[in-house]
Amino acid sequence: MIDIDALKAGQPRALAKAITLVESKKLEHRAQAQALLEKVLPDTGKSIRIGITGIPGVGKSTFIEAFGLYLVEQGKKVAVLAVDPSSPIAGGSILGDKTRMELLSRSNDAFIRPSPSEGSLGGVALKTRETMLLCEAAGYDVILVETVGVGQSEYEVASMVDFFMVLMLPNAGDELQGIKKGIMELADALVINKADGESMNLAKQTQRHYQNAMHLLRHTSFWTPQVLSCSAIKNQNIDAVWGMISDFQVDATKNGALQEKRSRQAREWMNKLLHEMLEMKLKENPQVREQLPILRDKVTEGLTTPYIAANTLIDLLFATDQ
Ligand code: GDP
Repeated sequence: MIDIDALKAGQPRALAKAITLVESKKLEHRAQAQALLEKVLPDTGKSIRIGITGIPGVGKSTFIEAFGLYLVEQGKKVAVLAVDPSSPIAGGSILGDKTRMELLSRSNDAFIRPSPSEGSLGGVALKTRETMLLCEAAGYDVILVETVGVGQSEYEVASMVDFFMVLMLPNAGDELQGIKKGIMELADALVINKADGESMNLAKQTQRHYQNAMHLLRHTSFWTPQVLSCSAIKNQNIDAVWGMISDFQVDATKNGALQEKRSRQAREWMNKLLHEMLEMKLKENPQVREQLPILRDKVTEGLTTPYIAANTLIDLLFATDQ
């Protein structure tokens, strides 16, 4: 059993145990994990949730280490989580790896957790989202969720955070730097990293380039996406990135946008899970499994309509599934 008081007191062992429970694939663990999450829900939501993406080599881990250490210096407790759909099942996750953030991982005020190696319903992203809630219950003030631009991972991370940030290279000529186009529309900020040494001028040029490009995007929320530059390795302008995010946090809290966004995200997760659960139930139901190929053949041969076939399967599901 998880000691909820120890978890709320921020004891790392209790947090780690709770996360292991949430990540477990065993059915009885899933029920326990959900009961635990429901219990701690009132203690969640007090952090700022920040998503960070960017191509490999852009400097994500260097940035997170510098940013995390800066936040710890400011008296914050920082959790670093990751959604890495490309990580091998064997658990060889690259993102959120402690060895990549050596100094930060030694801090008592930082908690680093690599990407779950696999997820069932809702995928690895759901596990990360639930882990984020546990970290909040344990008193972490800032949650950093890291991802690389693979598959759907940026969309999934954007749908669980308050503020979504894309790290970029100082390379003005290269239009989107391998970043998918839709991602620009999800971004609350672009941060040009490696603005140091010989790249300084190019970084400034790139910053202007994207500042102009961002104006062309239509933004629906109250927030106008910002374009900043920094050097993670030289620790330059890291404070400006935090300044921007805390401005966002203050404004979005005041005008209700933050709460609205979080409620919308929770509803979207519910919808996603509902669809996945229904699909799973259909796949697992013996009557449906038996009738599906028969009905499919009938549809193929034009002996029944697709509507009747689908409806028959749904009726079978509800008649037999309690
Ligand atoms: P990730 O793959 O996105 O996590 O990138 P890393 O943090 O591993 O960084 C990739 C490489 O870029 C490493 O060699 C870093 O030392 C270097 N790097 C990261 N940030 C900066 C920076 O601000 N300036 C410079 N010049 N190099 C950096």
